[in-house]
Amino acid sequence: MASGSGANGGQVVTRFAPSPTGYLHLGGARTALFNWLFARHHGGKALLRIEDTDQKRSTQDAIDKIIEGLDWLGLDFDGDPVFQSQRADRHREVALQLLESGNAYKCFATSEELEAMRAEQRAKKLPMRYDGRWRDRDSAEAPEGTPFTIRLKTPTEGETVIEDAVQGRVTVKNAEIDDYIILRADGTPTYMLAVVVDDHDMGCTHIIRGDDHLNNAFRQLPVIRAMGWDEPVYAHVPLIHGADGAKLSKRHGAVGVEAYRDELGVLPEALFNYLLRLGWGHGDQEEFTREQAIALFDIDGVGKSASRFDLKKLEHLNGHHIREADDARLARLVADEIGGEVDLDLLERAMPFLKMRAKTTHELAEGAAFLFAERPLEMTDKAAKLLDDDGRSRLSLVSNALAAENDWTSEALEATLKSLAEAHELGLGKLAQPMRAALTGTTISPGIFDVLVLLGREESLARIDAQAVPAAD
Ligand code: GLU
Repeated sequence: MASGSGANGGQVVTRFAPSPTGYLHLGGARTALFNWLFARHHGGKALLRIEDTDQKRSTQDAIDKIIEGLDWLGLDFDGDPVFQSQRADRHREVALQLLESGNAYKCFATSEELEAMRAEQRAKKLPMRYDGRWRDRDSAEAPEGTPFTIRLKTPTEGETVIEDAVQGRVTVKNAEIDDYIILRADGTPTYMLAVVVDDHDMGCTHIIRGDDHLNNAFRQLPVIRAMGWDEPVYAHVPLIHGADGAKLSKRHGAVGVEAYRDELGVLPEALFNYLLRLGWGHGDQEEFTREQAIALFDIDGVGKSASRFDLKKLEHLNGHHIREADDARLARLVADEIGGEVDLDLLERAMPFLKMRAKTTHELAEGAAFLFAERPLEMTDKAAKLLDDDGRSRLSLVSNALAAENDWTSEALEATLKSLAEAHELGLGKLAQPMRAALTGTTISPGIFDVLVLLGREESLARIDAQAVPAAD
């Protein structure tokens, strides 16, 4: 039975171990989130390890993007990241230890020989795996100076059982696990060995990762057992699929998390909430703050089936988190989106009205555009239609009434416009519609009295007068 808690006094230690070959995509971000939450929930540590051993595919740019993405999501991992590439000596040391203890052996098979072996297996429709030809042979049989790899001596009989915290009991026949290479002929360690050594040295008690690594767990366990190390608890989380049910790929917009911010206008706490719900549940609750997530998250809430990416749901959650967010912070975000010189104070005052209906920060910025529009305002087609002769002559009534208004508050303006509407036996909408068009250039905006207050007396009257039919002489 996996214990995973012996070595460090019971403290939970998790790790997120991305290979820096691209962006921090949704799947990676969710793995990071689950590891982070699990550690925070249990008062443990969440560590970050950059698996940069594949020097050809790893880039500094990808490392930076991953770290920025984690920062943006507010996933603060503990301590400095561990770089796997810097630990090759230690990995080699373990390989040699395994050799010494008889749990690994030298394999002198040449690549031509191994290719011939595989060709034969293919022809016989046998599974392609190393056949153990050097497992019981004496190294002395190899000619002097022949290069060799070091292979792990994995058990050949029986089966290995993993009690996975998400997948449940998973059993694999040991005969299916071949004696894989842990140290290459050039002395470099393989990825499979490096992962296990690093997990052990970092004191990881729980390995939470995508279920595409479940097979690897069966290859990694023999190293752990041969070294006599504590076995971690494994939790292999199902992958994320696109709305069409296929594994999430670039085609589904599986881009870096920053694209959700830049292209969709998503807040980090909304993506955090969304990723949390993607594969984990707590009753039928949809909305979670970070604090609630930390308090409630545990592995037993992680489902066994693949989850589907659902843009509508992400937008819905984003709208919720926008309404919850601090107005000054939203104002700064929106000012950045709008660019140039923007009156932050005005934006902040407008935010309570703008955020009522916005699902993205882009929609907030669109909604705020009227505040900074220059006269003459550009009109949408719908707004232009409202400014027909009738509409414009109603605006001149409004203009006169507002010019006489001393109290420029939402309440007073409402009272004034209501009595104006009544005096002319018009519904209030008949006044408000052309006003909205004249004041915002659109047909969708915050309440018309709030718009007047936000724009202020002078600007409001100027915009109305620009569209009103001039009073007949
Ligand atoms: N580096 C691997 C990846 O990015 C993860 C390895 C692991 O979690 O064990 O898929």
